[in-house]
Amino acid sequence: MENNAAAPSRPRERAKIWDHFVREHPPSTHAKCIHCHMRFAADPLRHGSSRLYAHLKNCRMMRN
Ligand SMILES: [Zn+2]
Repeated sequence: MENNAAAPSRPRERAKIWDHFVREHPPSTHAKCIHCHMRFAADPLRHGSSRLYAHLKNCRMMRN
């Protein structure tokens, strides 16, 4: 009997962020909020998308 009851590793809501941000063209690693057009560093190797998620909570234009 193997103990494989652990939850399968599933990606967090990673993809959804790109419904709200647009990546700039390389070599830029920034992304732009499509709602308020603010730019954020979004280097996936360094920052990941956590900053972008943080912005979504604060984005004024999202609430309209
Ligand atoms: Zn925004």
